[in-house]
Amino acid sequence: MTKPVVFITRNDFPCIMNELLKEKFQVKCWSEKKLTKSQFLENIKGVFGIICSPSNKIDKEILDVAGNTLKVVSTFSVGYDHINVKDVKAYGIRIGHTPDVLTESTAEYGVGLLLTISRRIIESHLSIHKNEWTTDVWTPMYMCGQGLENSVVGIVGCGRIGTSVAKKVKAFNIKRLLYYNRKEKQEVANLGGELKPIDELIRESDFIIVTISLNEETKGIINKERINLMKSNAIFVNIARGAIVDQKALTEVLQNKKIAGAGLDVFETEPIDTNDPLLKLNNVVITAHIASATFHVRNKMAEVAAKNVIAVLENRDMVAEIQ
Ligand code: NAP
Repeated sequence: MTKPVVFITRNDFPCIMNELLKEKFQVKCWSEKKLTKSQFLENIKGVFGIICSPSNKIDKEILDVAGNTLKVVSTFSVGYDHINVKDVKAYGIRIGHTPDVLTESTAEYGVGLLLTISRRIIESHLSIHKNEWTTDVWTPMYMCGQGLENSVVGIVGCGRIGTSVAKKVKAFNIKRLLYYNRKEKQEVANLGGELKPIDELIRESDFIIVTISLNEETKGIINKERINLMKSNAIFVNIARGAIVDQKALTEVLQNKKIAGAGLDVFETEPIDTNDPLLKLNNVVITAHIASATFHVRNKMAEVAAKNVIAVLENRDMVAEIQ
């Protein structure tokens, strides 16, 4: 009997993915550099499953071309804003993703960004490379930053990752922990977290970290008006998705030093243009969407993504299914 086909949008996912799939499926991996939409469409007719990453949009056209053999879309990510969930569900296709396994690595990275920017770690590193650490440069206030101790930390979207950030920042003896969610989260309330309307959170926080998922309601939620509510000493970190924030408005307040700094792992367009004005600012740390990237986590994500597909073949619960 011929095995059903799983199309994987790249061939460099950790090998556990293939190892798990190959017994039950014919695995077809895209092996060239970047899969274009037309190449995607050419390769999915008649497949049982698709394993994708956030750079692969899954829309109605993909579903129509794949046809009624397609039973599962499994993304190598927790975020699923690249998948038109409504359309996929309407076709009776199940969707898997990879939450939990990346929660800790992403949260610790977020805290790392908060500290990197607030304690001016990269600024100091770069200044030494520019020969600026000379014997006469020191003053009592040289390279002073802000510590987390005694500060107000606001978490926008306290889900799995936000809650983990909350637990981690609590260990820094902060003064108050604020969070914005649709409803109170007991686990965060138990840590002393105060549920706040988003404007109040932004107005009162010294550190703001965005961990909310991207959807129609949260797109642009950190808009120009809200950015202008931030305190002059505010440090802003986004480890969720770029489209949650008005990047132009954020750039303006950073350029004008209306806030203290930002640590950004995600952008409206990725990769960020090398001429983007954000790259010219020394109060900004930019990283390449790597918040979850540890060796261990990427292997676990590959395992979960494969197991989600196998679960559909065997008509079982997925490890993690988008409902
Ligand atoms: P999660 O547990 O689903 O948390 C998402 C949070 O967003 C929840 O607290 C949810 O609130 C909140 N939310 C969603 N829509 C909302 C709305 N309309 N109004 C108010 N709150 C809303 O997801 P997670 O595992 O923590 O991951 C969060 C996001 O991080 C992912 O979606 C992904 O985009 C991003 N991420 C980025 C990286 C990276 O490499 N930079 C890595 C991993 C994840 P409720 O509790 O009320 O539902």
